[in-house]
Amino acid sequence: MSAAAPDLARHPLTRWTGPLGLPDFSALADADFAPVFDAALAAHAAEIAAIAENADAATVENTLQALELSGEALDRVSAIFWCRAGAHTNKDIQALEREIAPKMSRHFSAIHMNAALFARIDALYQAREALGLDAETVRVLEKTWKRFVKAGAKLDEAGKARLAAINERLASLGAAFGQNVLADEAGWVLYLDAGDDLAGLPAFLTDAMAEAAAARGEAGRYAVTLSRSIVEPFLSFSTRRDLREKVFAAFTKRGENGGETDNGAVVKETLALRAEKARLLGYDSFAALKLDDTMAKTPAAVLGLLEPVWEKARAKAGAVRAELQRLATQAGDNAPLTAADWRFWQEKLRIEKYAFDEAELKPYLQLERIIEACFDVASRLFGLTFEERKGIPAWHEDVRVFEVGNADGSHRAVFLADYFNRPSKRSGAWMSALQSAHGLGEGAAPIVYNIMNFARPPKGQPALLSIDEARTLFHEFGHALHGMLSEARWPSVSGTAVSRDFVELPSQLYEHWLTVPEILERHAVHYRTGEAMPTALVEKMLAARNFDAGFATVEFAASALVDMAYHACAQAPADPLAFEAETLERLGMPAEIAMRHRTPHFLHVFSGDGYSAGYYSYMWSEVLDADAFSAFEETGDVFDAGLAQKLRANIYAAGGTKDPEALYRAFRGKMPSPEAMMVKRGLA
Ligand SMILES: [Zn+2]
Repeated sequence: MSAAAPDLARHPLTRWTGPLGLPDFSALADADFAPVFDAALAAHAAEIAAIAENADAATVENTLQALELSGEALDRVSAIFWCRAGAHTNKDIQALEREIAPKMSRHFSAIHMNAALFARIDALYQAREALGLDAETVRVLEKTWKRFVKAGAKLDEAGKARLAAINERLASLGAAFGQNVLADEAGWVLYLDAGDDLAGLPAFLTDAMAEAAAARGEAGRYAVTLSRSIVEPFLSFSTRRDLREKVFAAFTKRGENGGETDNGAVVKETLALRAEKARLLGYDSFAALKLDDTMAKTPAAVLGLLEPVWEKARAKAGAVRAELQRLATQAGDNAPLTAADWRFWQEKLRIEKYAFDEAELKPYLQLERIIEACFDVASRLFGLTFEERKGIPAWHEDVRVFEVGNADGSHRAVFLADYFNRPSKRSGAWMSALQSAHGLGEGAAPIVYNIMNFARPPKGQPALLSIDEARTLFHEFGHALHGMLSEARWPSVSGTAVSRDFVELPSQLYEHWLTVPEILERHAVHYRTGEAMPTALVEKMLAARNFDAGFATVEFAASALVDMAYHACAQAPADPLAFEAETLERLGMPAEIAMRHRTPHFLHVFSGDGYSAGYYSYMWSEVLDADAFSAFEETGDVFDAGLAQKLRANIYAAGGTKDPEALYRAFRGKMPSPEAMMVKRGLA
């Protein structure tokens, strides 16, 4: 290290001195990331070398615990950096991201392929029965051993070198993929003017479009951006088919526009390298490698869930398609229905069937009150308290900071939330942690955050949400609770560090409480009159809830099936987009419905490998959450204290400390079948 290397014990990126144990964001400078990363990587490498070269025989303390507690400075700078890369990026951060991603990959490859270190872990693993360890420690030891093996610890030197090179390249490709999607999203705007251009659009949407135009220096005009919060309602309400087609094409072509931001080559190389990686590690396919430590375990089990659901959903969607075509024809529109039309006629059918217009709900769904509803549910179920702390700087001025307390008044967690869309933020909604909870060494209290992409309201007006957006807010907050309520001792199994097809249980389950009557009555109040949502409207909303479940399920399952098809091949497809088209044809994809995420912008699957061969997880978890909420309904009280306690202990607090199936059984007493999910989805 040069003389100018930053002092990690003092630097604000790695020594957090802000209020509530946060970093002092006001003291952070983008230019510091690169040198601090270098210093933190070097410090971690030195810690690892000391563990690996320890002359004493391996013990849990000197090896497993030392390994888990190593790299604190790297964890800290990484947490801030990846938060910025997703939620508030810029050219410098992006350039650094392309550099850091492969550097991190190289660093962790070197750790996992360190023969002396693996020998110590292997010694503990082989002796695990005789060491008198508690169950959580045994599980962490087994998971650690397996992680090393899956990262190449048992390969020969040539295999190790090749795997490290593959991982490094995959890291670069993942970073490039996400940046390309963001560039296509940020680079496309359709400006409209008052009058015919806005035909059919409700006020909440034109307000959001006016705000988006003003933010881009086009005050007085109306901007359609590629944010889902604008695109979906535009497609639902605009009577201008020509404009709908334009917007739909731009939205579904993200990442597929030729030139520098086209993801075609990125996807092709990613799939080829993933398949090669799986072969190198002795698996039949990348899906087999990824599913090895999930609840589903095999691609066949995933298809066993998805395929029957797909057939039911396709049949349902087919019936609705005929109705949509009828409505279009009645309105004098004889052109065949296209994918750019579905949401528009769907909205008309919803009104015909349920006398229910989504836009009627919005005045009752104020962001502020939905946040309160989220907190209210957490307080009723788990006794948590929330206090907003103003004036604490974070990564952007929009970010809000809440201190979360236990029922006895003690500190539990810090929760940060960043709700509005802006050009520096990638699309979607997510939860992550600046600091995970654990009880090892000095321990740590959780600092977690939620990122949303709601349209910013005009000045002086409240932000109003759609029911889907309100559900998304509950969903991400469910993930946040999984992080905040963790009681795991070991960091590597804390909070959301569970198998991918279990991780959506706490989030999807939490969504159910949004629409329970007590919560709606108290929090879904009209932004002008303060009146609660009328019972008749609540009933219509609930009745219409599964309206067009076929469409929603086809959208989702098509993406999940294509994801699985890509990764279950032993050899990667030579032309991924042709493969996508062939797969959809083989499945009998209705031409009038688009995948929820097409390949060139499928961030879950290609921006890093988080949900690769894993998009099905949402539905897998849904089987669990449908059944878990039924458990509350069966008691006659959706806030039943005894059941809430069981839920907390076995699901929200347990992290990955036990096998997920064992956790679920401890909560519910049995495993669910997919039927309850299909009934709840309206597919049965
Ligand atoms: Zn989720």
